[in-house]
Amino acid sequence: MTDLDSMNRVTVNGSVLQQNYRIIADSVPAGVDVLAVVKSDGYGHDMVFAARMFAEAGCRSFGVAEIAEGVRLRQAGIGGAIYTMVGFPAEQAEQLFTCNLTPIVFSLEDIDLLARTAERLERTLDVHLKVDCGMSRLGVMPHEVERCAGTIAQAKGLRFGGVLSHFAASDDAGSPTTAESYALYTKTCRSIENHFSGIRHIANSGAVLNFPETHCNMVRAGISLYGYAPDGRKDSGQINGRMLQPAMSYTTRVVQVKDVPAGAGVSYGHTYTTRRPTRLAVLPVGYGVGYPRSLSNCGEVLVRGRKAPLLGRVCMNLCMADITDIGGVAVGDEAVLLGAQGDESITADDIAAWADTISYEVLCMLGKNNQRVLIE
Ligand SMILES: *Cc1c(COP(=O)(O)O)cnc(C)c1O
Repeated sequence: MTDLDSMNRVTVNGSVLQQNYRIIADSVPAGVDVLAVVKSDGYGHDMVFAARMFAEAGCRSFGVAEIAEGVRLRQAGIGGAIYTMVGFPAEQAEQLFTCNLTPIVFSLEDIDLLARTAERLERTLDVHLKVDCGMSRLGVMPHEVERCAGTIAQAKGLRFGGVLSHFAASDDAGSPTTAESYALYTKTCRSIENHFSGIRHIANSGAVLNFPETHCNMVRAGISLYGYAPDGRKDSGQINGRMLQPAMSYTTRVVQVKDVPAGAGVSYGHTYTTRRPTRLAVLPVGYGVGYPRSLSNCGEVLVRGRKAPLLGRVCMNLCMADITDIGGVAVGDEAVLLGAQGDESITADDIAAWADTISYEVLCMLGKNNQRVLIE
């Protein structure tokens, strides 16, 4: 790689991230913390940048997937609690102590390992225990909680900092499983009251928006901090009348404008045939830089403030937009694939709907595969 700029760029607006943080922090009762989930490179927004923005807005708790991410945050000077959410290999356990990261644990083996490591290093460590309350993903089953809790409580070098779980369907305000999971979670917490009086947390963005009764001592907000509601609906991303705002946009430049006759096959496989003499804008964007191939023949981009449909397959580094009805397009013009131009805009939810996925994946894929411009 050289340091020459790409024609494609993701722009992240830090003040929008901060505004989203404040909307969420203002919406939870005083004393309830907002943990900013910054895993997966801050959902593609640049993990260190996003964490710094949230920290400046008052955030003191962060969530990452693996230890390496937590170490990077510490090296970048991020303070507060940093939770590792998906476990760790035994040989990295020491790093938790040296970087003061808070592991979320879900097995007796890990608890034992951490207890032994704490003793050996003569240090102490906060641990949070994860319980599976119906998602069938990470976490000990409720019947194993008592034993794990007892082991943590008895370990000299471990502080029992919290008990958490996760919702499977809180993005749906009508989901019956959310109430069921929450009831199981509170019952489980009560069953270990003799060992534990730390932080209870279960709410993700869906529960931040839809289930205020589940906010406990802390909420773990991810997608909402980046400006999107987890259910993919624009009107869902609103808290107390304040709209969450997307912080990421994605733009490129037109590299060729060309006229093809009616009946021309467009792109690989000729999956589109022009029905009229057609003017195409060729864009240097494709699945190689995280723009989904499933947008073939169904996505839209903005050129000169107007919507231009994609024709034919999205290639690895190229795609074609129909600009027949948009006058004056020239090579070098900006095209917006995500974000606003003129009076029009395209959201990650729009792209996700076209590509049959969710905003989360769109943001991760675009953010991690393109040059990013970070604006404070
Ligand atoms: C990713 C994640 C979150 C955040 O989920 P959102 O839907 O983005 O708010 C919360 N908790 C855990 C354990 C996670 O893995």
